[in-house]
Amino acid sequence: MQTDRPLLVIATRNAHKSREIREMIGDRYEVRDANDFPGLPEVEETGSSFLENATLKALAISRLLPGLVLSDDSGLEVDALNGAPGVWSSSFGGEEGNHTKNNARLMAEMAGQQERTARFRCTMVLAEGGVVLADFSGTVEGTILSEAHGAGGFGYDPLFAPEGHERSFAELGPEVKNAMSHRGRALALVREWLEANAAIRAREGTP
Ligand code: IMP
Repeated sequence: MQTDRPLLVIATRNAHKSREIREMIGDRYEVRDANDFPGLPEVEETGSSFLENATLKALAISRLLPGLVLSDDSGLEVDALNGAPGVWSSSFGGEEGNHTKNNARLMAEMAGQQERTARFRCTMVLAEGGVVLADFSGTVEGTILSEAHGAGGFGYDPLFAPEGHERSFAELGPEVKNAMSHRGRALALVREWLEANAAIRAREGTP
């Protein structure tokens, strides 16, 4: 793992999130994720908000690894379901991380429902050495489709059509998704923060 670039670890084992963040973060950093450090513990997401969970993940991992650590906690809020699945998005179908079951439950709960508005939210926390440096959030509004469409993306993407589009994130492809997604919007703020702080960090001798 020898590299000239400073290390930035994404505090996730979710390869889809990690891929999207890598596509957007730029090349100033040597980007790794939790899968590159097999001994890392699972961080329990016991918070009741995206910010609380993102903070838990960033702090826990940044206490164990050197360099910058970036966490992502995200999910889908559906108005007709009073904001569910929200922070429980990854286990909505009853099994953690099972996107097929999650989508099946969402489709079942939304069957016949007229009100179809929803949004994805993403909160990212940047931490270092067990200290939070900053947090960033992004949202994308949209609607829930009645059937899954498309094979791209991950999670609820086949059922979510972002504002201004009739096709799902899974059909629209990574360029369109990254340019307008909750994650893309949060990450644009992360990039701004990193650029603004790069000069200060260089003066202090921190990569
Ligand atoms: P987390 O790991 O607790 O942040 O859970 C995130 C969950 O929210 C994922 O497992 C997906 O179910 C959902 N989710 C978050 N971002 C996206 C996205 O960009 N597309 C589709 N589903 C997403």
